[in-house]
Amino acid sequence: MSVVRSISILGATGSIGASTLDLVRRNRDQFRVVALTANCQVKELAALAREFSAELAVIADEGCLPDLRLELSGSQSEAAGGQAALVEAASRGADITVAAIVGCAGLAPTMAAIEQGKVIALANKEALVSAGDVMTAAVARHGATLLPVDSEHNAIFQCLQGNDPAHVRTITLTASGGPFRDWAYERMAGATPAEAVKHPNWSMGAKISVDSATMMNKGLEFIEAFHLFPVGVDKLRILIHPQSIVHSMVEYRDGSTLAQLGPSDMRVPIASALAWPARMDTPCARLDLAEIGELTFRKPDEQRFPATRVAREAVMGGGAAPAVLNAANEVAVAAFLSGQIAFTRIVQCAEDVLARNLPPPPQSLDDVMAVDKEARIRARETMEPAR
Ligand code: NAD
Ligand code: MG
Repeated sequence: MSVVRSISILGATGSIGASTLDLVRRNRDQFRVVALTANCQVKELAALAREFSAELAVIADEGCLPDLRLELSGSQSEAAGGQAALVEAASRGADITVAAIVGCAGLAPTMAAIEQGKVIALANKEALVSAGDVMTAAVARHGATLLPVDSEHNAIFQCLQGNDPAHVRTITLTASGGPFRDWAYERMAGATPAEAVKHPNWSMGAKISVDSATMMNKGLEFIEAFHLFPVGVDKLRILIHPQSIVHSMVEYRDGSTLAQLGPSDMRVPIASALAWPARMDTPCARLDLAEIGELTFRKPDEQRFPATRVAREAVMGGGAAPAVLNAANEVAVAAFLSGQIAFTRIVQCAEDVLARNLPPPPQSLDDVMAVDKEARIRARETMEPAR
């Protein structure tokens, strides 16, 4: 007999939101949808709220609330809008909250969900990168369970089950290398947004796709791993694996390396979090290693892709540095996507902002938000004029 669990999805209209709802749709008898949220995609959000009979639909952009109300009139879903409503939705205490908003915009609602002491399936890596210790302390204080959805971290989480972290020798995050894996640095300077968002293995939102192209995604994931798996920064590694089949691995002191393999489909790690500690079916293509034939690995090239070095330095610097890095990167990625700066300028911008005087280490959610806000202003200054 399966138990019905309540679920809220923050960022329901995005790529992770859609993959999550696909699984919920296939297992309707196992989930009761509490809250669904989106930034400004009124029609999509309303359609999802109706389909899943959500208690509440929240649009972050308050200006869109009248439209959402109109779309939901006559339905059983309540409509709400604005930042406070987003936080209130996350506070409704669903058994499981999927944190799938992109960027630091997801931090406050994710923290509100953590305060309920339930299960958080975390896709929103920027929130953890920015808030770091503030978030992990809140998880401990409120007895919440943070389950990583990011495929690498979900893989590591699985490989650590039943093992004492004290026996870990290294944790290796694999990286596809993104669409520019084999491009010369000079060629990358002329890369267009359309080229950057065309990921070879995964279909994802625009921001994370650009992060994959610069490899800042792996830099952010390095910081994410630092907080999720406290084995120390010296034990964390990055390895290029173009096929994206081995999602990450853990090496133990006896020489055993455990890896998690699977198709490049986010529904696999999402299902692992939704069903945890049990397992559930997914409709994903089965892994056919004979068909794939070869799995290859190589070292990252930090000359062409400095992002992982910049991120490693930020996490080693500690304090406000990761939040500053994340904010500057978000601003620079948006500027690149709107054609304001060159592709190779993205990571330079983050590094330039980090090179300035850093604010004191954030001690609270408000501190992190203040650091984020200030770093965004500095990033915009740094980018003018584009070079
Ligand atoms: P996406 O752009 O497809 O979706 C983002 C969602 O957040 C949408 O529902 C959007 O409406 C909402 N949103 C955007 N800005 C907002 C704001 N300011 N306030 C409130 N809501 C806002 O992004 P995605 O690819 O689904 O990624 C979501 C998160 O998951 C990111 O942190 C990303 O790094 C992480 N992630 C994604 C993948 C993937 O395969 N897509 C894999 C691993 C991790
Ligand atoms: Mg990932």
